[in-house]
Amino acid sequence: MLHSNLSVNNKGNLCICGADCVELAKEFGTPLYVLDENYIRDRCHEYTESFKRYLPTGSMPLYASKALCIKAIYPILLEEDFGADVVSSGELYTALAAGFPAERVFFHGDNKLPEELDYAISKGVGCIVADNIDELKIIDMLASRHNVRQRVLLRLTPGIDPHTFDAVNTGTLNCQFGVAIESGQAEVFVAEALKCKNIDVLGFHCHIGSQIFSPEPFTMALDIMLDFMVRIRESMGYTASILNLGGGYGIRYTEADPIMDIYGCIEKTGEHLKMLCDRFDYPLPAIFKEPGRSIVADAGLTLYTAGYIKKVSDNTNFIIVDGGMADNPRYVLYASPYTIINVSRCEEKADQVYTIAGRSCETGDLIQENVPLPETRSGDLLAVLSTGAYNYSMSSNYNRFPKPPMIMLKDGRARVVVKKETFEDLIRNDL
Ligand SMILES: *Cc1c(COP(=O)(O)O)cnc(C)c1O
Repeated sequence: MLHSNLSVNNKGNLCICGADCVELAKEFGTPLYVLDENYIRDRCHEYTESFKRYLPTGSMPLYASKALCIKAIYPILLEEDFGADVVSSGELYTALAAGFPAERVFFHGDNKLPEELDYAISKGVGCIVADNIDELKIIDMLASRHNVRQRVLLRLTPGIDPHTFDAVNTGTLNCQFGVAIESGQAEVFVAEALKCKNIDVLGFHCHIGSQIFSPEPFTMALDIMLDFMVRIRESMGYTASILNLGGGYGIRYTEADPIMDIYGCIEKTGEHLKMLCDRFDYPLPAIFKEPGRSIVADAGLTLYTAGYIKKVSDNTNFIIVDGGMADNPRYVLYASPYTIINVSRCEEKADQVYTIAGRSCETGDLIQENVPLPETRSGDLLAVLSTGAYNYSMSSNYNRFPKPPMIMLKDGRARVVVKKETFEDLIRNDL
């Protein structure tokens, strides 16, 4: 199976974390987001263990909340010794409401609003990743108002194209995040930051993209960042104590994707860092990373019930499910690949080809095209795998579909972590 937490039981049904998906659908209905807590903890553990082994002391993995921001994730992160990234005061609010300590939170964003910065600083957020000079000035002013020295990282763009989708590529020059090294603007950014009286510059941040499977883009980022840091030390006498290399570790959406070797990648990063720091006689900075997708994506799947099955031409046979782009917009946005399984026919031959469509009023509302499946009947359950990241967090109420509930499995036992939305929820803010 695509992920190690998936199996088929003696009834021929798909199981996740040992729980039969047919039983889960019976108990909780469909569509249903399913998450496997054991699997999430295993992924967290890979990061914390490899960090301990291969990276300088003080290094820490931060979970990128945008992948899946729900209260239930934060106690797990805390127990697993993770910090967290947030990109809005809403994500910060969620983390704090779940009891996550503010000092372990890093606040990102290319246009954090002044009231969001004020909220974050008043709550004692650990670090703000400053995006640009104008923002630095606002942070400086707010820190002074709150009588604190605010710790910041400076977000830089190292100019690397990690060969991923353009839409999720954030490390190159012409992007709206951070300040570019190659244009020379980054040096001005640092000089201005060091002048701010109420700001403590801990170091630098970069994020080069998503779905990266090899260590090379990260070691390339290290080359560029270290070169920059050495130049800054020469010209300004400033030494960074933290280097944050962002997220972007790949996960398996289909069998065509490799299995990401986290240990190997962190080991290479650590070795490369030590080599560079030795060469330039630079004190080893603590390394931070921000995995999002690779913590939660494979841990999740979505269960749907097949509605009408519609053969519209020789080439196109639709299965229309009881969800769609409102709960998973990723095919619509990026033509993202997914693996789809007929939950109760795992042992039948996948000799048919279907297009899985949703129930929104959009011809583009597809979950996936050309999916090999066994002959599927109305009422069958389908599982879309690897939906733990960027599904619920990107979901909407388009067509006023209430959002599906989410359950978390631990040792095969389920608990509801997000309730199903009700009609009342849908009109809550309507006057
Ligand atoms: C999106 C993002 C991440 C997480 O990326 P994943 O591909 O989910 O690991 C981390 N850091 C920043 C700044 C991001 O924008």
